[in-house]
Amino acid sequence: MEVNQPVPLFSAVAANAGIDFSEPLMRVVNRHWYILGEEVKSFEREFADYVGATRCVSVANGSEALEIALLSLGVGPGDRVITVANAGFYSSTAIRAVGAEPVYVDVDDESLTMCTESLRNALFTPVKAVIVTHLYGRMADIENIYEISKAAGAAVVEDCAQSHGARLANGQCGSFGDLACFSFYPTKNLGALGDGGAIVTCSDELAARLLKLRQYGWSTKYHVTSASGRNSRLDEMQAAILRVKLPLLDQWNEQRRAIAKKYCEAFANLPVKLPTSLGDDYVAHLFVIRVEDRETFTTYLSKQGIATDVHYPVPDHRQTAYVLKETFELPVTESISSQVVSLPCFPGLSDAQTNRVVEAVTSYFKQRV
Ligand SMILES: *Cc1c(COP(=O)(O)O)cnc(C)c1O
Repeated sequence: MEVNQPVPLFSAVAANAGIDFSEPLMRVVNRHWYILGEEVKSFEREFADYVGATRCVSVANGSEALEIALLSLGVGPGDRVITVANAGFYSSTAIRAVGAEPVYVDVDDESLTMCTESLRNALFTPVKAVIVTHLYGRMADIENIYEISKAAGAAVVEDCAQSHGARLANGQCGSFGDLACFSFYPTKNLGALGDGGAIVTCSDELAARLLKLRQYGWSTKYHVTSASGRNSRLDEMQAAILRVKLPLLDQWNEQRRAIAKKYCEAFANLPVKLPTSLGDDYVAHLFVIRVEDRETFTTYLSKQGIATDVHYPVPDHRQTAYVLKETFELPVTESISSQVVSLPCFPGLSDAQTNRVVEAVTSYFKQRV
């Protein structure tokens, strides 16, 4: 690695290093079966087992996983769905797509995931479902959120698109909600070589609905028995790739966590807010710190050859594409949106690159005093 090469936020080359893709791809090519075949069936079985759910229905991407999950729960026009506003508008897109209305609750100032107090208050008015995003790879307080939501009659959908493999003592991310949605976008902790997604559940009834919804609303070929069906399928090539990568997920997550740990130790005395968990409930999808004067900080890092990004700069309730029926007070969400900044953290990021990030961040604060 050249000393002065910029350190990227993510590198597909590094993240996929050492994997032989030709065998799984040629297996599919030589079988001449490209859609909903052996690879998809096997991946769905293997992924459900990995998560600790009984069923997995793969789909075309993580956004459609959320949308189809909501449809399977019967969410539609006029329904209200609770979500957070600091997670990149993904859940909002799905809620809007099914014609429902998002209800935003604030996030906890430490975990940056859904605040249970804020959730409790929002549940005084009926909602059909709650989408819980395990943001940046950090699991939300899902056990309490599930209990609170179910007591109010709302279904719970986990958004695990950033948290494949995170776990609590009582189970793995994706095994707590009525349904859990995953994305296999290339930069995710488990990424395909293209788009992909999945929904896992322990309900045979919901799985049966998902299977119809992902393929034209068919119960059997050419018999449309479910409204709102569409075509949303994972293809055989991506499934074959994901089957090669799934057994490596835990070790990659371990690498991500090791990098996060190194950053946390190096930045412990700097005027920044760091991730508050480095345990099994955090798989370091993104290493996000909070700083004042973010613009100055990112400009400095950029000059040092360190890539950064902001996840996410505009809270969902401040996006301009849709008119909201209600107003929301989200003080934590608002304040963090101007502070959060993501640093390079991915499997394959070398020690030398990690050290360069550490040095750049440290020197930024040195020259400031
Ligand atoms: C990436 C992502 C999605 C969307 O997944 P796609 O496969 O890109 O559609 C949904 N939710 C979260 C939290 C994500 O990070």
